[in-house]
Amino acid sequence: MRSPVTAPSQGELQRQNDFMLKIKAINDQKEKRPRFMINTFGCQMNAHDSEKLDGMLRQMGYEPCDDEKDADFIIYNTCCVRENAENKVYGNLGYLKHAKKDNPDMKIALCGCMMQQPTVIETIRKKYRHVDIVFGTFNIYKLPELIYTNIESASPVFDIWDKHADIVEDLPTVRKFKYKASVNIMFGCNNFCSYCIVPYVRGRERSRRPEDIIAEVKALAADGVKEVMLLGQNVNSYGRGLEEEISFAELLRRVNEIEGIERIRFMTSHPKDLSDELISAMADCKKVCNHIHLPFQAGSNEILKRMNRRYTKEHYLELVDKIRAAIPDIAITTDIIIGFPGETEKDVEETIDVVKKARFNGAFTFIYSKRTGTPAAEMPNQVPEAEAKKNFDKLLEAVNPIVYELNQKKVGNTYKVLVDGVSSDPLFVTGRTEDNTLVHFKGCSELIGDIINVKITDCKTFYLIGEQV
Ligand code: SF4
Repeated sequence: MRSPVTAPSQGELQRQNDFMLKIKAINDQKEKRPRFMINTFGCQMNAHDSEKLDGMLRQMGYEPCDDEKDADFIIYNTCCVRENAENKVYGNLGYLKHAKKDNPDMKIALCGCMMQQPTVIETIRKKYRHVDIVFGTFNIYKLPELIYTNIESASPVFDIWDKHADIVEDLPTVRKFKYKASVNIMFGCNNFCSYCIVPYVRGRERSRRPEDIIAEVKALAADGVKEVMLLGQNVNSYGRGLEEEISFAELLRRVNEIEGIERIRFMTSHPKDLSDELISAMADCKKVCNHIHLPFQAGSNEILKRMNRRYTKEHYLELVDKIRAAIPDIAITTDIIIGFPGETEKDVEETIDVVKKARFNGAFTFIYSKRTGTPAAEMPNQVPEAEAKKNFDKLLEAVNPIVYELNQKKVGNTYKVLVDGVSSDPLFVTGRTEDNTLVHFKGCSELIGDIINVKITDCKTFYLIGEQV
């Protein structure tokens, strides 16, 4: 199957560039440059989308600021995976109504996953009439046109699509870090895990063409980027529907060839699509970090079935064995949900059994949160909060000692650490080993962006402590 959506649209980029120039001309005439602030909720996909919003806004003559109080243009890039993130957006919008009275020129824009839900749009139209621009996940590249339409019409602009169109390449982007960057390799998801809203708000899976990805990574390397994170909801199914037949493993091998890039990471991997070919590519490619994030979510086959995850506990553990056999020093991290509808004590024991057998280097653990619009929200036997909390604590009692034990084994060894920032103690900096463990060591901010040899001298459950050697 050929997919027309993978052809990037240069014409659309040109249209948006024209709108950017028009808005820049308007902003150039103002006495003071208008300031913008982007408030990002949710996952790395959103963080990466915000970098594109940032790039476009600067190109249109806006200047960044750190405080909403100082901003003339505020964008909330929203997330709908958890209800409390949505409530926070509504709370902030309430506050902005008053802020707008003090600064009547202030513009408020909303985008991201939350905006793909018709009930949210209805609420905004009815209760938050001070919002100026609303758009969704499929058309973030249209921001210049939407701003221009809002200025011209002096009325709110809503532009929500229910499916994707072209992938627009080469949008201006402002990266948060000089030395590391995220690269989308695909958008959307076809998996419909029964608890997840993402396929409904991000649409069906579509991959970017390999030549566009390679060109982007080469440009990043030329700009001093050492580490790239290849992003997709399920990178293991990368390539489906593209004209060129290519797997994610092959893409990794091509990225590995790019001069200047020193570390390659990727997320997220769905266990059902993780191939032997990918494991071999990870083992062969020197720049691919010895870390994989492989969410298992639940250990009970019955729960996995109801989650629509399409693998079993046994298959998952088999994968873990295969990965460790091919890459012995690999760190495996995971996601686990506790309190899925119908979960029993026995199911929780199955989950803890996977934790003990797989011996994860880290786990993001969540208490199941009901998402309206997903099949799981309609399932009977929703687990009472107190019971889920009790099981959650039990899970942590299994996860954390293993993480600590694995960290302890690193004491005395030396690792290459990419320095990320200054720690809460200003005498220390923090960074990540290749296997993605957090390390604190004595150093100054000049080291940020460098890869430093650090000898590990001590550890805690969630980080290592070391010294530069
Ligand atoms: S793979 Fe499942 S959990 Fe991940 S985005 Fe797709 S539906 Fe959601």
